[in-house]
Amino acid sequence: MRDVIIIGSGPAGWTAAIYAARANLKPLVFEGAEPGGQLMTTTDVENFPGFPQGILGPDLMKLFRDQALRFGTEVVGYPVESLRQIDGGFELLSQEQTYQATSVILATGASARRLGLESEKALYGHGVSACATCDGFFFRGKKVIVVGGGDSAMEEANFLTRFADEVTIVHRRHEFKASQIMRERALKNPKIKVIWNSEVTEILGVDAGHVTGVKLHDVETDQTTELPIDGVFAAIGHSPNTNLVEGLVTLDEKKYVTIKPGTTLTNVEGLFACGDVQDARYRQAITAAGSGCMAALDAERYLEK
Ligand code: NDP
Repeated sequence: MRDVIIIGSGPAGWTAAIYAARANLKPLVFEGAEPGGQLMTTTDVENFPGFPQGILGPDLMKLFRDQALRFGTEVVGYPVESLRQIDGGFELLSQEQTYQATSVILATGASARRLGLESEKALYGHGVSACATCDGFFFRGKKVIVVGGGDSAMEEANFLTRFADEVTIVHRRHEFKASQIMRERALKNPKIKVIWNSEVTEILGVDAGHVTGVKLHDVETDQTTELPIDGVFAAIGHSPNTNLVEGLVTLDEKKYVTIKPGTTLTNVEGLFACGDVQDARYRQAITAAGSGCMAALDAERYLEK
């Protein structure tokens, strides 16, 4: 029976590990299916304090990880398949092995949302992507669209102009949700165009085996048009990764873990939640890291008791 197991390896998970390891709790971190979390698919992180010149997302996550390992954090490179309460703690199953701990810190983050179209599923990886950093390279000299109106959409669109000849942002409303600085950066970029008030209703090219275009529905005029393009990047927000704890802890209507305000306490004693899995509001690396620290301190206090 370990003191603490941390599930997730984004800024929240590693920060919890750094604090727990320095408190001599010998944490075990499950890195999960996407080690490093969402920052692994980001380019420049310009708003993480301490890096005045900015830093690449994967480089930042390597620093987090190195710091946690320096203090003796153990790591398992697999996802957790199940988590249940047992007498005096929790039992986790991963790769046919069981692990037990008195406390668990849930830092499973959130994942990119999909448009939910059949054609999106069929063409995923064949011109449809949710990660410009991962796949932008394949669209050198091509025409692509980015769906969404938030900071992610602006960032993805800007990044894609390094490769694509033409990037069109398709947004369902007439104004962006993105912050002013990100919005202006995108709108000033001569390679970026915007199609307002429009939804993607179908991605074309299923028979060809690669994206050839999209059907766009103008929500104001109710007209549907076809736009020939080579790639579709969805940047429409994220959903929390709470499948593992569904039925175990209280979730809100958007399926984020409900925590006692100002803490990382869930409704289950000994189970703490930090980072994007419990934060639908801020969703920043720095707030995730801050709440990871809180979770480790909350777990430490719980274990002392
Ligand atoms: P957001 O939730 O902020 O934005 C999602 C966007 O996608 C909205 O414009 C929304 O439309 C649109 N959308 C949602 N669902 C659909 C759908 N089914 N079809 C079409 N459009 C849809 O998510 P982001 O990922 O952009 O940002 C998340 C957080 O991360 C934010 O806090 C953001 O500030 C931060 N971030 C910061 C960055 C930075 O500072 N460098 C970079 C990237 C993200 P509508 O506007 O109509 O709701």
